[in-house]
Amino acid sequence: MWQEMNKPKMATEKGASRVLMLLGQLERLNEGPKASDTDATRQITGRILHIIQTQEKTRKEMMSKGSSGMDVILSTLENTRDLQTTLNILSILNELLTVGGGRRTGVFVSKGGTAILLQLLVSSSKDLPLNEELMLHIHSLLFKVGPKDDITSSSDRKFGVKARLNGALNVTVNQVKHNLQNHKLLLPCLQVLRVYSGNLVNAVSLGKSGALELMFEIIGPFSKKSTTLLKVALDTLAALLKSKMNARWAVDRGYMPTLLAIYQDWHRNDTRHRHMIIRKSILGCIKNLTNIKLGRKAFIDANGMRILYNTSTECLPVRTLDPLVNTSSLIMRKCFPKNRLPLPTIKSVYQYPLPHILAGGPVAQLHSLPPGVDDVVDESDENEGTEVDTENDTENEDDETGHKTQNDDIETDINKLRPRQMQARPFDELRVYERFCLEFTQYFKVNDFQSPGSVTPLSVDPNLHNPLIIPTKQNRRPKNIQPPRSNDPPLDLDSISISKALEGKPDPDLACSLGRLVLDGEISVNGESVNGPQEESGDQAVIEVPDTAALLPLHDPDLYLEMVKGTRSVPAYTEVAYPDYFGHVALNLREPILERAYGVQSRTKIFQDIERLIHPSDILDRVVYDLDNQSCPIPDNGESLKFNSKFESGNLRKAIQIRKFEYDLILNSDINSNHYHQWFYFEVGNMRPGVRYRFNIINCEKSNSQFNYGMQVLMYSVQEAINGSPQWVRTGSDICYYKNHFSRSSIAAGGQKGKSYFSMTFTVTFQQKDDVCYFAYHYPYTYSMLKMHLQKLSGMCTNEIYYRQDELCETLGGNSCPLLTITAMPESSSNEHISQFRSRPVVFLSSRVHPGETNSSWVMKGSLEFLMSCSPQAQSLRESYIFKIIPMLNPDGVINGNHRCSLSGEDLNRQWQNPNAELHPTIYHAKSLLQYLRATGRTPLVFCDYHGHSRKKNVFMYGCSVKETVWQTNVNTSNCDLHEDLGYRTLPKLLSQMAPAFSLSSCSFVVERSKEATARVVVWREIGVQRSYTMESTLCGCDQGKYKGLQIGTRELEEMGAQFCVGLLRLRRFTNPLELHNHNSHLLDMENDLKDPRSIPNITSPTTYVLEEDEPAFLEEVDYSAESNDENDPDFEPDLQDNRVLPDPSSDSEISRQDSLT
Ligand SMILES: [Zn+2]
Repeated sequence: MWQEMNKPKMATEKGASRVLMLLGQLERLNEGPKASDTDATRQITGRILHIIQTQEKTRKEMMSKGSSGMDVILSTLENTRDLQTTLNILSILNELLTVGGGRRTGVFVSKGGTAILLQLLVSSSKDLPLNEELMLHIHSLLFKVGPKDDITSSSDRKFGVKARLNGALNVTVNQVKHNLQNHKLLLPCLQVLRVYSGNLVNAVSLGKSGALELMFEIIGPFSKKSTTLLKVALDTLAALLKSKMNARWAVDRGYMPTLLAIYQDWHRNDTRHRHMIIRKSILGCIKNLTNIKLGRKAFIDANGMRILYNTSTECLPVRTLDPLVNTSSLIMRKCFPKNRLPLPTIKSVYQYPLPHILAGGPVAQLHSLPPGVDDVVDESDENEGTEVDTENDTENEDDETGHKTQNDDIETDINKLRPRQMQARPFDELRVYERFCLEFTQYFKVNDFQSPGSVTPLSVDPNLHNPLIIPTKQNRRPKNIQPPRSNDPPLDLDSISISKALEGKPDPDLACSLGRLVLDGEISVNGESVNGPQEESGDQAVIEVPDTAALLPLHDPDLYLEMVKGTRSVPAYTEVAYPDYFGHVALNLREPILERAYGVQSRTKIFQDIERLIHPSDILDRVVYDLDNQSCPIPDNGESLKFNSKFESGNLRKAIQIRKFEYDLILNSDINSNHYHQWFYFEVGNMRPGVRYRFNIINCEKSNSQFNYGMQVLMYSVQEAINGSPQWVRTGSDICYYKNHFSRSSIAAGGQKGKSYFSMTFTVTFQQKDDVCYFAYHYPYTYSMLKMHLQKLSGMCTNEIYYRQDELCETLGGNSCPLLTITAMPESSSNEHISQFRSRPVVFLSSRVHPGETNSSWVMKGSLEFLMSCSPQAQSLRESYIFKIIPMLNPDGVINGNHRCSLSGEDLNRQWQNPNAELHPTIYHAKSLLQYLRATGRTPLVFCDYHGHSRKKNVFMYGCSVKETVWQTNVNTSNCDLHEDLGYRTLPKLLSQMAPAFSLSSCSFVVERSKEATARVVVWREIGVQRSYTMESTLCGCDQGKYKGLQIGTRELEEMGAQFCVGLLRLRRFTNPLELHNHNSHLLDMENDLKDPRSIPNITSPTTYVLEEDEPAFLEEVDYSAESNDENDPDFEPDLQDNRVLPDPSSDSEISRQDSLT
């Protein structure tokens, strides 16, 4: 027993020591005079080879740390002239590198082994005739050392460059050329060629050496023989074709039809799908050829669309062939001819004359665009001529250290990070803002204690140019009809009547839109036919509407119509959308984030899109709604849906019927702009119930959307409303968002945005006959609705509440921008109480600077309702602070259905640094008011601007912190004094503990350069508000907390607004009352409770760096694009570089599968 156990060990030790001994001998021989010792060297290397071939442990011994084994072996290889010795050593290396993983290769590479091998290859290629065995060995070893597809750190990442510099490329090409029939040698040579071609500069050089021709000689139609070889040849070819020069060469010689024919042949003959990877490699070659314009043309000319469409259709039933379907789909989408949008111009239908146009501003740029600039220019390989230059830039492509993780948007200028104690306007000028702060100066008499009562009545301009045509109770309810009233609310029904042809009202659009609603007048509510009233009142019909006022304390349809009359829109809207009129009652249902069905995008939608090209005769292409051509007769064949969006916040420009139940929809650009569209709100009628309708919004701009991650559109059914469910409901299936074949010139896009458009597609089945439905991007919230809510809120005012509504200013479009002051009335007119009243710190809130972010208005509604409520908390909050609130910073944008801008065609949240009094009045006066507050020693304790976020889930905040900004940069912080109060963290932390939708981990306190003109940064830097925030609410839903997995609704948004107020109340407890009296000071020591330094690394999430707009670049990777290598699209670059991007956990398996393909 004992002896047996020890025997192998003894043998190993003996073997190991022998190997070391032999290596020692070899080392001495290397140092001695070489010629005489050839025999000895040959013998020793032969013995070493024998030992390591038989005893694995000796290999370990040779490669152990500190061993000079590899040095000795390599130095022998370098010095020997003896063929047998060389072969011995190559065999030894082969043994050593075959096992042992990457570490051994790493040692080999670090000792310069690659270069020695390459030199050996080149020098031995000069000896004729070539020794086949030697070539075989060298190539096998080179293949082991070179980088593979699955990149390991140990392989030689400089391999491609070294091979070129050593002149090895052509040697291998010649080996391939002369051994086309000798597969034993051909395979390793091809494998090495494949590795060489991974470097783009090499690919160009290899192309010139004839490597392409060779590959086309090797690849061919279906054959069961030599499939390994074929696969390597195809992969080499695909790599070579990544060079545009090579791709051009191949297209010029007609290889596109060849490749397509080969693909078809394999498709036909590989019936048992054993060679899927070969078929995939053929597609890989075709895909790279279509990177160039010429290739895409050749693909179309060779009937590639039909070939790939047909083969893919046949592959669809077999799941294992998904990679083929996906790659085919990618190629087809790339080659789908780019079209301009079917519009006369992408500029907004509506223009608004500005008081003046800033030189160099966006509107000036828009006006200076040459005519016809919208036209598509396929520039995607414009720089083909300069290939060599650009390819030299990729010289270090196999150098791992090239990637940048540092975001260069972070502010690094310490001086810019410090608050600037500057006064932009002289105090004399600011003095006028005193009228917005009467609570500080007002003299309270006893009878003031009713309420300030100074609610400014919103003026109705009697001189509005167009007559308003609104379905009001007053002018349309038949006099002889009593509204049926139920005795028990909340579903008490009120009734209005709506006529098809209104007396003296010539507006055909209105008649048309109402006609949809009533149709044959056969609507019956609660079993009562409404035919009677219709007969009695001529051609008028009556519908019942729910009395939402009973359900919604702040809603009143009559009041809404009153408010609409005072709202001025650029298109002079005369219609009211029913959801806004009836109101929206929050749903009691949970609406889960939608799970994406398998293959919706690549298998269903894309193929239907491609069919447009394959079967053009099936496409109707019938315009059914067109704002650009309103006189154009809309077909009324009963077969088409009817669209409308000519109402407040409406945004639909054109609808085109594509198939019987499919429509392309185009959104209007923001006024005085030629882009910015994502928000939509439109009406649909004349639908057939029970049929699946597909809608495609074809001019979306953002490169990704929460529509890819479970968000649904919102729908409001008028029939459902009448039946007692007046509400917006999440709806739609088969939703996806992807790059489509519509495009614009980059000049038209201002050179900032990508040229491509994206489609948001969804499918809806209508339930009701004769219904009118509305679709929206998010829960609509119009300006008229705000005015109605404010009117209602002022009615809630009690003796305890100090509520004042002022007009901050008039907007460009002539609408009033309300400013609210809410606090508690002083307890009495005693000096003590008045003094307490006036010493309350100010909280400044604003919202809806971005019209498309309607969620921010719902959050604001929640805050306002809480502030006006009679709960003890609300009273306590009012006693703690004076609230200054601008609930809608961009009324004009909201009214006119803009997504991002005001009437000046600019993003108002980029104007805070230098707002123009005429062009950006709301921002100019909001900022001045803040300056006034600061100048009078009342710098707000908190500033928060409510926003909506289209690409992230949950609710979260952006704040400003010098420290956290500096931490994210490489700036040497040793010489900056970084004593920063951490008070800015308190509120978000409190909110994360209280508000279920709020997520602390999504918060960021980094100051970005691109945000330096936003409210948050300017108010922090210039006004000196330390707690200056942007609060972002998701448009989609939550992935944490109580609402995890649910889409967000108005109830949750309003709750967030209320919780924000409660958070402010708690913040009060964490702030030192003494210091609040002098709240220009910055340190609030009691907040230390919440300043857990351990939470700091978590709170700063790198994902919140932003490149443009106020939203992070998309965080979820998804192959929705047709041009995965579209380097010209700025939307893609940063995201791909940022390896810290977190994948969305909700991204589905289809997406990950596609990712793994490209
Ligand atoms: Zn925003």
